[in-house]
Amino acid sequence: MTATLFNYTYSPTTGRSSSPAPLPLRRVVIVGGGTAGWMTALILARSLLDRGVEITLLESPSVPIIGVGEGSTPWLRGFFDGLGIEEAEWMPACHATYKCGITFDGWSTKPGFERYFHPFASMLDNLTMTQFVHNVEARINGANVHAHPDRFFIATRLAAARRAPKPRESFPFDVWHGYHFDAMLLGQFLHGKAVERGVRYKSCHVTHATLGADGAIASVGTQEGETITADLFVDCTGFAGLLIDKALKTPFVSFANNLFNDAAVAIPSPIDGPIPAETVSTAFKHGWAWKIPLTSRYGNGYVYSTQFCSPDAAETELRESLGFLESDVQARHLKMRIGRVTKHWNKNCLAVGLSQGFIEPLEATALLFIQQTAAVFVQFVEKGDFGEDAHDRFNRQVNDHFEGTRDYIVTHYKTNTREDTEYWRANAANLNLSDGLKKLYSLWMAGKSIAPGVRQQAIGKGYPVFSWYSIMAGMGIFPDPQDLRPPTPREARYSMDEIDNLLERSSVNYPDHREALHSIAPRRTDAALQLYFWM
Ligand SMILES: Cc1cc2nc3c(=O)[nH]c(=O)nc-3n(C[C@H](O)[C@H](O)[C@H](O)COP(=O)(O)OP(=O)(O)OC[C@H]3O[C@@H](n4cnc5c(N)ncnc54)[C@H](O)[C@@H]3O)c2cc1C
Repeated sequence: MTATLFNYTYSPTTGRSSSPAPLPLRRVVIVGGGTAGWMTALILARSLLDRGVEITLLESPSVPIIGVGEGSTPWLRGFFDGLGIEEAEWMPACHATYKCGITFDGWSTKPGFERYFHPFASMLDNLTMTQFVHNVEARINGANVHAHPDRFFIATRLAAARRAPKPRESFPFDVWHGYHFDAMLLGQFLHGKAVERGVRYKSCHVTHATLGADGAIASVGTQEGETITADLFVDCTGFAGLLIDKALKTPFVSFANNLFNDAAVAIPSPIDGPIPAETVSTAFKHGWAWKIPLTSRYGNGYVYSTQFCSPDAAETELRESLGFLESDVQARHLKMRIGRVTKHWNKNCLAVGLSQGFIEPLEATALLFIQQTAAVFVQFVEKGDFGEDAHDRFNRQVNDHFEGTRDYIVTHYKTNTREDTEYWRANAANLNLSDGLKKLYSLWMAGKSIAPGVRQQAIGKGYPVFSWYSIMAGMGIFPDPQDLRPPTPREARYSMDEIDNLLERSSVNYPDHREALHSIAPRRTDAALQLYFWM
């Protein structure tokens, strides 16, 4: 086993490509002004505006954006850096905080494994990654060694101590981190930036698309009476899927058999005292609840399955957990369509965001799909790669990412050991698993390394190897304690004290989270909670 299980390190992206490839595009129309619309506009603008391509974003004045989606993966950092937008500019504007990873609380009932942290791992973690994987593999094979992931990663330490993952200047190691942010404010911020950079904006409600003889979209018509043409139409209309679904009738692959959750209810709450640098995901009776810290409030929500729980019961359970049973703070109820379209790029239409598909928000991956779909599309455009074969390669790549991510999310449910409700029992008993996932579980149960399998299969297109070790170990998928034996000297070769010391010494180089945010965060305003319900 190598020490470089995790080999991503962070370096800002270099900016737009200078290749002067001829572009078969003169005019791009993006329909939809949610996070997907504006992120896509900025990514396309960075590459295409200077080459004379006109980009216009149309947004309905009557259809609000979804307004949730407050956690990210570390890849969002690349999005802002690639656009040359500093944290000091966007984070205060969006009430953003740093995120070291996610705590999963109450998903497993196995003693000692009731809670674990899925960290964003960095190069720094290669100092302890070998030890983690070694111990995990020894424990799967019956050795009584420490194998809970929480003792092995710097990001876990930082989150536990409520430190920011931003080292003091004297410390040379960068730590991967994501963000939490207010989705409404992020949308407004990105809107401002895109318009400032030359994206045109039009408030209008698209009523229909007209197809040409080749079946591609020739134009869209608006309620205001306009007919708008373009070479490329980007569908960012959210779950409505106005172009990719309604106009082009692109088939949709539902993940409802793998992932049961199809609804959510959200309620904000005040934040005082220290600011956590993590999302907490707590298992509830029929799903799970998120708790996301912003500088101005907590975002809370319960993601559940309507097969097992009514919206009213879900709201009551969430309110109870927040101590809000008597409170008149409004709740927002949302429906979710889980799955993906078969073709994210279909004829002259690119679907980005909820219109292309959605995997429930357990690991906060949706913005990453937006970013990657738009960025990979730009690579094809820059090469002038527009043929049928290009469509196929593009769609395969995006689909692999969806499937790999789905399998990782499914694993949270499949490995749960709760027995308190039919919801959890049905999840544990669910046999709708991909072949890759079945193979991974059988390797694990046989005490073998899962690393080569993850790397070779589509399953690895969603999450890196260390994340798979973290989830399986974090959920306590090991022999029962009474079946463990004393470790051999080789199995016991790593000292947990040394690992603790190493991580302790490293983590003092990171400042308190609130302190780190203080220099960039605005003061909390009383309007902050109201803003949440702005739409
Ligand atoms: C419960 C929940 C929690 C989530 N949590 C996370 C998370 O933690 N992290 C994460 O990354 N993602 C999360 N997401 C996903 C995230 O919210 C979305 O991916 C993101 O907000 C992008 O949405 P969107 O822009 O595709 O759609 P929307 O925000 O719905 O925007 C749709 C846009 O299309 C426009 N539109 C619609 N119809 C028309 C029309 N006819 N004419 C013109 N314009 C039209 C609307 O006006 C709007 O501007 C979550 C989603 C849900 C449901």
